[in-house]
Amino acid sequence: MDSDRLKGRVALITGGSRGIGRATALKFAQEGAAVMVNYQQQAEAASEVVEQIRASGGRALALQADVGEPAAVDEMLQRSVREVGPIDILVNNAGVLYRGDLLSYKEDELDLMWRTNVKGLIHCTAAVVPSMKEKQFGRIINLSSIAALGTALAGTTFYAATKGAVLILTKRFAFELGSYGISVNAVCPGFIATDMVSQGRSSEEIQKLLGSFAAKSMLRRAGKPEDIANVICFLASNEAAFMTGQILTADGGRVDFLSHS
Ligand code: NAP
Repeated sequence: MDSDRLKGRVALITGGSRGIGRATALKFAQEGAAVMVNYQQQAEAASEVVEQIRASGGRALALQADVGEPAAVDEMLQRSVREVGPIDILVNNAGVLYRGDLLSYKEDELDLMWRTNVKGLIHCTAAVVPSMKEKQFGRIINLSSIAALGTALAGTTFYAATKGAVLILTKRFAFELGSYGISVNAVCPGFIATDMVSQGRSSEEIQKLLGSFAAKSMLRRAGKPEDIANVICFLASNEAAFMTGQILTADGGRVDFLSHS
C-alpha cells in the first residue's frame, strides 16, 4: 500500500535497472519519490523500470553511467538536476560480484569489484553531497552485504573485502556529513535471488542454492529484492530521521558465520 513516505523527494538509485535496485526504485516511486534509475549496460531493463513507474503516475528517468567513472557520474548528476532537481536520497546499490579466493583470483575482477563497489560509492556520494549540504538535508543508503560480517561462504573473500570497505565508509561519511543534516546508513542483505547470484548457474543449481540458504536461515527462506527494498525505504524515510552510521542486517537470520572474536 502506498503511504507517500517519500513524497516530494528526488532519489538516485545506482544500479536501479535490476535486482534489489529495481525493487527499490519501484518501492520509492510507490512512496511518492521521483526516481532516477541509474544503470551501466542494460538500457532496456532500466527503461522497463521507468515505464512501470510512469504508468502508475510516478516520475522517473533512466540515467546511464558507470559509477566507477567520476566524469560519467558528474554528467549523470547534472542531467538529473536539469531534468528533475537535486538529489535528496542516494542509494549506493550498484555492485558486482566475482567469485574467487586467495589462490584463484583474477586481477581484473579484483579491480572491477573495487572500482564499482567502493570507488563507485565514493564518486556518487561526493557528487550528491554539495547540493545536500545546501539543503541541509540528505539520506544516503549504502548496500553492503552479510559477506562483510564474516559469512562462511567459499569464493566470496574479495567481494567481502569490498563490502567491508562499504561499512567503514558508511561510518566515516556519517561522521563527516552529520552536521549538514545528511545521514548515512548501510544495509547488509543476506542471500537475495537476483542476477548477481544466478549468473553462471543452471536453474537446478539455483534451486539447490536457494534451498541451502533457506536451511541456513532462522526464517527458513532466501530473500526477495522487496525484502531489502523495504529496509532501504525505511532508512530513506522520516521514520529513520535520528539514525546515522548504522548497519541494518536483513538476512532471514543466517547462522553460518565464520567465528566469534
Ligand atoms: P544485480 O541484480 O546483479 O544488479 C546489479 C545492478 O548494478 C544492475 O542494475 C547493474 O546495471 C548495476 N551496475 C553494475 N555495475 C555498475 C556500474 N559500474 N555502474 C552502474 N551500475 C552498475 O545485483 P543485486 O543482487 O540486485 O545487488 C545489488 C546490491 O546489493 C549490490 O551492491 C550487491 O553487492 C548487494 N548485495 C546483493 C546480495 C544478493 O544476494 N543479491 C546480497 C548482499 C548484497 P546493468 O543492469 O546496466 O548491468
